[in-house]
Order: sequence, then structure tokens, then C-alpha cells
Amino acid sequence: MSETIKNAVQDRLSQIAGPDGVGDLVSLKLVSEIFVSDGRVAFSISVPAERAKELEPLREAAETAVLGVAGVEKAMVALTAERVSGGEAAAPAKPQTASAPRRNSAPTERSDGKPGVPGIKHIIAVASGKGGVGKSTTTANLALGLKANGLKVGVMDADIYGPSIPRLFNVSGRPEHVSGRVIKPMEGHGLKIMSMGFLVEEDTPMIWRGPMVISALTQMLREVDWGELDVLVVDMPPGTGDAQLTMAQQVPLAGAVIVSTPQDLALIDARKGLNMFRRVEVPVLGIVENMSYFLCPDCGSRHDIFGHGGARSEAERLDVPFLGEVPLDMAIRETSDSGNPVVVSDPDGAHAAIYRDIAAKVYETIDAPAGADVKAAPKIVFD
Ligand code: ADP
Repeated sequence: MSETIKNAVQDRLSQIAGPDGVGDLVSLKLVSEIFVSDGRVAFSISVPAERAKELEPLREAAETAVLGVAGVEKAMVALTAERVSGGEAAAPAKPQTASAPRRNSAPTERSDGKPGVPGIKHIIAVASGKGGVGKSTTTANLALGLKANGLKVGVMDADIYGPSIPRLFNVSGRPEHVSGRVIKPMEGHGLKIMSMGFLVEEDTPMIWRGPMVISALTQMLREVDWGELDVLVVDMPPGTGDAQLTMAQQVPLAGAVIVSTPQDLALIDARKGLNMFRRVEVPVLGIVENMSYFLCPDCGSRHDIFGHGGARSEAERLDVPFLGEVPLDMAIRETSDSGNPVVVSDPDGAHAAIYRDIAAKVYETIDAPAGADVKAAPKIVFD
């Protein structure tokens, strides 16, 4: 059955024109090995790194074509690229690894001059250089992993462009006011949760300007009754634009976790993310490689179809810790999309263990005894 599907998938892909409208995906040898299991199909298409955005419709076309094959229920197609050397963000900035992060002496007295949030011991950001790499999924499972390790945890969804934390935790509604302007966070899977998704109508298009970003952040950070937390995990908006830079600078962060897929395409963006935090002197706690490899649900064997390992070597090259690799797995997608991330829906499974391990590494770093200090972050002004 799998073999029949595979042949049919290949057949469909051979009808899709290559990136320049010449030839087809198969004869141009752009398609990776095709994995078929239980009606699920996964493969990658190799494209030049600089054309990734432009070729997104090609990826979508391939996915749609594959979904049209009898017996295919799900398709997962990724664009991959050959390694490109150098690059704008490739030059390692001043090394600032997790071995020497900034420390909080007390929640409200910080060495960087940014006022802390009373009651919250550590605030960490989860960021990615671009969307769709699994940043929010990582945020949710990392936060749940921290909780599973016995910590009091909150999640602040600062992804103002596409807040997905409410969906990941299956929480909706409006937060209640406690007193005055202070609101009560929502709760999901034992965590305190706050998201712009609770404050604005879902389909309201919002154009965020600098001052609005700051006021939304301030509100979520300081006008929410977070209570006592060991860690507040902040889901950052994807990318490295002004809004992200403002957040990285405004929020009193103990450090940042960068999520990347193994593809070089995403890694280039990840490097930009890394450099953004370095610019505002926030320690990078490490890189998580998401959708790292494909674990065949039938045979249990591991397939590195997406060029697995890119993030680990990149982390080494950039002198930041490598926190772990998370496979591309339908269970991760399905549990996230249904509001029961894998750390809570399958706590004894292998995926949950990976996230708990990442969580332990992160916490070990931020809660280590006082280390070196860094200078106050530079002021960034934009309108
Ligand atoms: P981002 O926050 O970077 O935009 P999301 O966390 O929303 O990305 O993930 C994008 C999509 O990919 C979601 O449908 C999510 O369930 C899925 N996804 C994320 N990580 C994995 C994974 N390791 N395996 C399979 N699907 C994943």
C-alpha cells in the first residue's frame, strides 16, 4: 500500500514544474526520499536558499497535489536548501553564551536597569527568525516541561501578529479584572496564561506601531496578576524587526531560546534572531532544532530527511548551547493543534521526555548561581 502511494506521489510531483518553470520536480531531482506511513506523507524539496519565500507556492502546490493522491490523509512538505556560506548575520557577534548569563539579584532590582516583575523570578523568551518553524509549539511544551520539572510557570503570548497560545492551551474567553486595571491571567494545563488573543477580537486586523507594542507588552507583563512564578515563558513574534527588537529590549529577559528547523533557510533566520538578542545584550540560552528528523511510526526508524543536524553544528559554530532536537511528528502537530501539547497528553512518551530535558537545561542555566554582569542594554527608539 505504502509503495503504491509513494509511486502515485512521485507521479504527481513529476507533473509539477520546477522552480523556473522548466522540467519537473522529480526529473530535476529536487525531491528528497518520500516517506509514507499510515496515510501520512513527508518529503522535502530542495531549493536555493535565497528563493525560499518566492517558492512557498511551489511547496503548497506540492502539498496540495500529494493530498489529492488516494490514501493520503496528511502531507508534510518542507523546502530545504544547500548550505550557503557567509551571510549577513553569519559573523559571530561578541560571544555571550549561556555560560555567563546576566542574573537577577532580586526580581525588581536588575543589573540591566530594566525593572523586573515582582513575584516572577525569571523571564525567558522563545524566538525564531521566521514563522512556521514551531516556535509556539516549543513555547508551550517547554513551559509544560518546566512545570513537569516542578516549577511554577506562566506563559505570555507576545506574538501579537498571530497569537497561538490560546489554541495551544485550548483556552478562550476574556480575563477577569482583579482590581483597577489589573487582570487575572487565564489558566491552562496548570499554567498561568496571558495572550493578546484574549484582549482583541480574533479576526480584528491590527497594525502594530512601536508605542502600541510597548503598551500591550507592559499591560501583559505588569498589569496581570501573575502571582509567584519561577519562570515566565514569553512567546515572541517571529522575525527580527522593530517590534521584536523593542520586546527583546523592553522585557527584563533572563535569556532567549531560539527555535529553528534544520534547514539552512531557517538557520539563516535563526542567526539573525541570535544577533538581535546579542544586540540588546540578552543572553542566548541555546538553540532548539525543531522538525529535526522524521521518526517512521511503522518501523520506528529515524530518517534525516530535512538535513538534520544543521542547528547543532550552527550552535557550535556560534558558540551557543544546543538544547535538543525535536522530531517532525504528527503527534506533536495534532496534540498542539488540539490544545493538548504532547508534554501533557503523553507525559510518558519520548517527545515529552525531550521537552522536559530541554526545560531542565534552560532552567539550569538561568537559575545558576550569580555570574558575570553585562552592561545596561542600549536604548532603542523608533516610532
Ligand atoms: P510558529 O510559532 O513558529 O509559527 P507553530 O508552533 O505554530 O509555529 O507551528 C507551525 C505548525 O507546525 C503547527 O501546525 C504545529 O502543530 C506544527 N509543528 C510544530 N512543531 C512540529 C513538530 N515537531 N512536528 C510536527 N509538527 C509540528
